[in-house]
This record gives sequence, structure tokens and C-alpha cells, in this order.
Amino acid sequence: MGGAPAHGHPGPHDRRGSENLTTKPDALPITVRGVTKTYGRVRALDDVSLDVKSGEFLTLLGPSGSGKTTLLMVLAGFTRPDKGSLKFGEDEMIRTAPHLRGVGMVFQNYALFPHMTVAGNVGYPLRLRGTPKAEMADRIERALDLVQLGGYGKRGIEQLSGGQKQRVALARSIVFEPRILLMDEPLSALDKKLRDRMQIELRHLHEQLGMTTVYVTHDQREALTMSDRIAVVNHGRIMQLAAPQQLYDRPENKFVADFIGDSSFLPVTRNGAGVTFGDMAIRMDGAVPDADALLLMIRPERARLLNGETPDDTNIFEATVTELVYQGESYLLYARLKDGSEIAVRGAIREGTYQNLPRAGDTARLGLHRADTVVIAGEDA
Ligand code: ADP
Ligand code: MG
Repeated sequence: MGGAPAHGHPGPHDRRGSENLTTKPDALPITVRGVTKTYGRVRALDDVSLDVKSGEFLTLLGPSGSGKTTLLMVLAGFTRPDKGSLKFGEDEMIRTAPHLRGVGMVFQNYALFPHMTVAGNVGYPLRLRGTPKAEMADRIERALDLVQLGGYGKRGIEQLSGGQKQRVALARSIVFEPRILLMDEPLSALDKKLRDRMQIELRHLHEQLGMTTVYVTHDQREALTMSDRIAVVNHGRIMQLAAPQQLYDRPENKFVADFIGDSSFLPVTRNGAGVTFGDMAIRMDGAVPDADALLLMIRPERARLLNGETPDDTNIFEATVTELVYQGESYLLYARLKDGSEIAVRGAIREGTYQNLPRAGDTARLGLHRADTVVIAGEDA
């Protein structure tokens, strides 16, 4: 008997322990060094170095065209970089053919064979590898169990929903017990509710199997939800690599601060160990980065609307409301400071609170506690 079932689904747990598909001991670290790939004048990857730890769930997060798929294709062996090195464990992989890399791969569009059954699709990598027939049925069923599709083997692909198709693709990617799992925007074709659920399920599956996983998405919330660490990619370069909370709370540059979550930015000036905004000394706990241009980053949910009070350890900004937006569970209030900068503040809406909020043209006092006050580099390195 295995561990706790994920969300109470009838699981594969009764089959665990005896053999395979519990690949934790075989998980491999990935070492990328100086990988560059150009297409004509486009630098899809620009001197990328990256360490993925053994058994880690690492996400490549970035806008469209930033180089995420290219990097994944280099890992899978479908793209040969112009230069650089790639190791799985101790082994150099750049010249190794894709099917010899021990890598499972899931694509956005499923890439299933429509004329084959579910079992035919899932068993495909086993047939490629010459797995004995007797072993195949059992391994296919185990992989289907793992993605909550036990008993679906005989169905045709076209009879399945989008979510089920993606589970089949996932089962196919893990059936041969890869040491490394690569996923390229696997959930982006699904609707939001299903995507949210699949994020949690994929995360549980990763906890069960423990294989080193590189996951690609352009969705920052998905990355925050699923990852051990996130590499934020832009223009073929890694802008920051950190755990989700670190990335959100302490982005190192404006690109990362802007791409993950919402924020307002105020230009500030270095003054001794701290900074000033205009003639106002900013109270803060964190360090000031070593950069010429500096910005004070304000997350809307960390700022708050003050009434008459003057709380301790809080930076207080006087502003004029430009817009109040109703968003159901919360409001978003935009306000302009004397220097022209704009700050957004988000607050929860509870019974009766919305009516009392200031409206466009009203003055407002906005508070930012020193613990939430973060100064970042203004220009991206
Ligand atoms: P992402 O997956 O982050 O959206 P890609 O890795 O697909 O980005 O693409 C990165 C850049 O490389 C883009 O500018 C893209 O147009 C270019 N690119 C990717 N693959 C090719 C290719 N096969 N031929 C030409 N340009 C390509
Ligand atoms: Mg892509």
C-alpha cells in the first residue's frame, strides 16, 4: 500500500512498492552550460546556464518567444545548440539522440495518434523500446492508473475529453520510467477549472514519481502553484532563478517584478544605506541593490488604504484617486502621487465596505509597511 491518495481519487497506490514507476532513486540532475541557439538573427537562447536538481520540479516561465520551447527541445535532443554543454548526471548529452536520453515529453497539443486506442498510445514508447509483450499490458495499466484513467485502455482517442487526452499524453510520457520529464505548456489547451485541478494533480504525480521535471508555461500563477523553483526567461536569457515566494517577494529586476504578479514602481534615489522618494526617506527592511537606477516596487495587495490612522513602520503616500475598480472579491484602486507616479492598491471587499471607498478625484492616504517595501534594480541587466 502506498501513500495518501491525491484528493481522494482511487489511485495507483495498491500497485506501488513492488516495482518501477517509483523512480525517485534514478532521478538525475541536469546541468546546462553556456547554451546558445540562433535562428538567423534571432538569439533564441543566449548563453544559458542552468542547474536543475535531482528530483526537482523546475519551471521555465516567460512570455511567448522568450526561448522556453527551444531550451526544452535542447534538453530533449530535438534541437542541437550552436554551442554549450548539457549533462544528465555525469553524462554529456549534446550528441545523444533523443530516444536514448531517457526523457519523457508532454506537448501542449497532446500529439496523440488519433487512430490508436488509449492503450496503443500509452504503449507506443514501450514498443519503440522493444518491451516484451507480457510486460506491456501491466505497465500501460499502471501508467493509466497514475493519471486516474485506469480501465480506459480500450477507448478510442476521439472519445476522450481534452483533459483525458492530456492525461493519456502524460501516461505515455511516464510509461517507460524516464529519468527526466519535460512538459511544454501541457495545460494551456484546457479550460481554467480543469487547468487548476490538473496543476494540483501534476504536482501530486511529481511527488509520487519524483523524477526531475522541467515544465514550461507562460502563466505566472501556474508557475507559482506548481514549482519548486522557477527560471524566469526573457529574450533567451534567464532573468532570475528562485523559489516561487522568493521570486514574488524579492524580484531582482523590473522584468521579473513586472512579469510575476502586478506592481507599481516609484523612482527612488540612493541615500546612504537607504533610498528617498522625492524628499521622503523610505522605511524598509531589505537591502538596496547595487544598481544605478532604483525602483520602489509596490504590490497592490501589500499596500493599503489608510483612514485617519498613522501606523508605525509604514511609508505613507498622499495621492489622488484616479479610478476605483470593482472586481467581485476585491477592489483595485488607482491613485496618482504628486510626482505623477501611479500606485494601485487591492483590498478585500466585505459586506458594506465597497460603498465607503474613495472615488476618482478624492484624496487618499496609502500605506506600505516597511516589511513589504522592496527596492529593485530599475534597468534589467
Ligand atoms: P517560447 O517557447 O518561449 O514561446 P521559442 O523557444 O519557441 O519561444 O522561440 C524563441 C525564439 O526563437 C522566437 O523568436 C522564435 O520565433 C524563434 N524560433 C524558434 N524556433 C525556430 C525555428 N525553428 N526557426 C526559426 N526561428 C525559431
Ligand atoms: Mg513555446
